[in-house]
Amino acid sequence: MHVLQRTRRVTASYSITTQPDTPTAEFDYAQCCHCAKHFHIIAGSKIIRGFCQRCNAVTCGLTACMSCVHFEKKMELEFLAIKKAVQKDKVRSALFEMLGISL
Ligand SMILES: [Zn+2]
Ligand SMILES: [Zn+2]
Repeated sequence: MHVLQRTRRVTASYSITTQPDTPTAEFDYAQCCHCAKHFHIIAGSKIIRGFCQRCNAVTCGLTACMSCVHFEKKMELEFLAIKKAVQKDKVRSALFEMLGISL
């Protein structure tokens, strides 16, 4: 049995595409629990998707999303990096000020 058939399939969003002369295309989207990207669920497409045991949710299957870093955690880490960079900048300008160097 396929992994997605065994697991709870959570549809994040849904779209209907209508075009003249073509049948209406309906797509279910799932959301990657690691990068928050939405992707089509195409039954039998053989596109490799992942499943994270820790998040208990599907992933988009990209190599970057194979390891478990939840996107909220990722954002938190990015935020911390920015905060650090800003602090570094503040320290630098304080140092410049102390040394009497004007930028
Ligand atoms: Zn992803
Ligand atoms: Zn995960």
